[in-house]
Amino acid sequence: MRILIAGAGIAGLTTALSLHAAGLDEIRLVDAAPEIRPLGAGINLLPNAVRELADLGLDAAVGAAAVPTTELVYFSRHGDVIWREPRGRAAGHRWPQLSVHRGHLQMVLLAAAEERLGRGCVRADARVTDFCRLPTGRVRVTLAHRTGDTSTTTEVDALIGADGIRSGVRRVLFPDEGPPVWQRQVVWRGITKIPPFADGRSMFVGGDSTWKVVAYPIAPLPDAAGLVDTNWAVSRTFVPGEVVDRAGWDRVVDPAKLLAALDGWVFDSLDVGALIAAAAPFEQAMVDRDPLPRWTFGPVTLVGDAAHAMCPMGSNGTTQAIIDARALASAVAVEPDISTAFVAYERDRRERMTLLQNCNRALGPEVVVAMADRARSVIRPGPSARDLDRELAEISRRYAELGGFDVAAANAASSYSVRRRPHSARPAQQPAGS
Ligand SMILES: Cc1cc2nc3c(=O)[nH]c(=O)nc-3n(C[C@H](O)[C@H](O)[C@H](O)COP(=O)(O)OP(=O)(O)OC[C@H]3O[C@@H](n4cnc5c(N)ncnc54)[C@H](O)[C@@H]3O)c2cc1C
Repeated sequence: MRILIAGAGIAGLTTALSLHAAGLDEIRLVDAAPEIRPLGAGINLLPNAVRELADLGLDAAVGAAAVPTTELVYFSRHGDVIWREPRGRAAGHRWPQLSVHRGHLQMVLLAAAEERLGRGCVRADARVTDFCRLPTGRVRVTLAHRTGDTSTTTEVDALIGADGIRSGVRRVLFPDEGPPVWQRQVVWRGITKIPPFADGRSMFVGGDSTWKVVAYPIAPLPDAAGLVDTNWAVSRTFVPGEVVDRAGWDRVVDPAKLLAALDGWVFDSLDVGALIAAAAPFEQAMVDRDPLPRWTFGPVTLVGDAAHAMCPMGSNGTTQAIIDARALASAVAVEPDISTAFVAYERDRRERMTLLQNCNRALGPEVVVAMADRARSVIRPGPSARDLDRELAEISRRYAELGGFDVAAANAASSYSVRRRPHSARPAQQPAGS
């Protein structure tokens, strides 16, 4: 059975590896990029995602260039600690939480895919622009290539859209949807070499109702000068009616644009101004997607950001893309045909991802920063501070449960372990569900 995966990002490559582990061997990926390069900046893998990578035998390779995060600390803009919690192994997880460069993770997955599925399993410069169901039940996919300015078609038994927030597969399924939705926030990202802060493995989040700073190291060891690559993101929330300057979107901007608001902010031993001043921040609109009523149409389905792109709160984007891949492969391993498997996968995942998307629109767990800013009670001892603490603990607990990374759930054996099957899942005989 031939499966085509659109997108060789984290979701696409993990899906390919997981389907291979489930016994399917005719899996090909296409990617719109001219070549697959280690792009991006820092991401976080929560323990439930690391557990799935371990099942694929890739946790050590990913971990070799990652930081095992030990704690998450929320600060007010004045540097007061709002909330502190242990993370990963320090919280009792069997698998670590990893802060890692997205490009490193992608290259580990790519190397494993080429080794297991065969060199040439990923074709770059091939953008999915269209597809249709044939009377046979197969899918004819149209690919556009920049080289030669051509397009080609290919016929497959199933198509998986792992092509990110601007998914071409999703556009065919939902032609009236339009572009990603701006969430009234602008985000600036950068990586700066600075001396390690806190224990060298901490993630800091701080700010107020308007500005938020996230910072964490992504290199396991300092360089010869004692400096460590530190990933950071600054976001600013705009209230309705406020004038928004869109001139800097999708380009590198002068850090002075941020320093006017953030200079003088210090979280523990982290000097936010120094972190930003030495960087070349890339400015972007913060966008996500509305939850979809459906991901699966017969032998076509969506995974990762193509299915449920969410605001980057709570370290869940890449984690949930990996869980999707595992859930999909484990459904393929047990269901009688591919369309039934895709329906089972969607039944397992879509409702929870809808909740997570909506929760992240309301700032996810990082809402505690805005709450504390409004309450201003963090620096006052007494009952109100204790009440706030209880509320923050509850927010943290509920969010971990929703993301499936609470200690009890993440420590349990994976429900997505796929067994190598002696034969491939059969393609669906009838056009189903479309
Ligand atoms: C270049 C890049 C850099 C990123 N950097 C960061 C970062 O620094 N921090 C962060 O939190 N998140 C980053 N992300 C997003 C993050 O990787 C995802 O949110 C998360 O990992 C889920 O992954 P995904 O595989 O679903 O989507 P993505 O990682 O976005 O991968 C989608 C893939 O599909 C390809 N593609 C797009 N359209 C088509 C099409 N029509 N046909 C075929 N292929 C297509 C893209 O080239 C890409 O390789 C980045 C994504 C990309 C593509």
